[in-house]
Amino acid sequence: MQRTVATFRRGDLFRIEGEELKHIFARRWKVGQKVEVFWEGRLFLCVLESISKKGAVCRILEEISTRPAEPYVYLYQCVPVEIGKMDFIVEKVSEVGAYQLTPLLSSRSFQNLQALEKRYERWRRIAFSSFKQCGRPIPLEIAPVTHLEDLKCRGGVCMVLDSFGGEIWLSEVNLKDVKEVHLVVGPEGGFSEKEVQLLREKGFLPVRLRPYTLRSETAAVLAVGLVMNF
Ligand code: SAM
Repeated sequence: MQRTVATFRRGDLFRIEGEELKHIFARRWKVGQKVEVFWEGRLFLCVLESISKKGAVCRILEEISTRPAEPYVYLYQCVPVEIGKMDFIVEKVSEVGAYQLTPLLSSRSFQNLQALEKRYERWRRIAFSSFKQCGRPIPLEIAPVTHLEDLKCRGGVCMVLDSFGGEIWLSEVNLKDVKEVHLVVGPEGGFSEKEVQLLREKGFLPVRLRPYTLRSETAAVLAVGLVMNF
């Protein structure tokens, strides 16, 4: 189902203008077509009633549930030194179903906090565009930057992807009926031994992915995808 974002609402009608209207024209929507309209954090099944160069009008048929798929995956991604790789990570983990992404600072990650904060608007835009494309019920949340030392295992299953010291394969962790998974992924240069030890002490289980060593961004996408498809 195609998706758009409303510019404003009056009763059971939504009006769409600006950039979103351009996308509607580009995708050749037709009057009478059923579409999904996002409005103030809620999602509605609508029918397109009219379209002109000034705006499109959609009538609400029903509200759609915005309950995300379980388990809720909280991904803590050590920011790659090549910071541009975060764009890929945001888009792909949104598609495979992560619930929340926290950019993490570790000893070998990208370190410049100010530069990271400037990226938030861009990441939220990427997450929003992925939300429109992939059909997830709400956009991926992007949480504030956190230091690895401040991480906490907040319940559910907590794991750290550790290419060398991982004790078991991720695919062997029993995730049946698990509601929350917290996953930590290292940067290009991996974690220091001290960091892995600290995460272990905090309750994060070191796990490995088969069969080879992956780039940080590949590991993040694969791990979230495996968890969502357990
Ligand atoms: N030589 C690095 C090291 O010291 O670990 C490799 C780091 S790897 C390029 C980047 C991150 O991706 C790792 O810290 C880990 O979190 C994750 N990763 C990559 N391959 C993995 C695997 N096979 N099993 C578990 N985690 C993996």
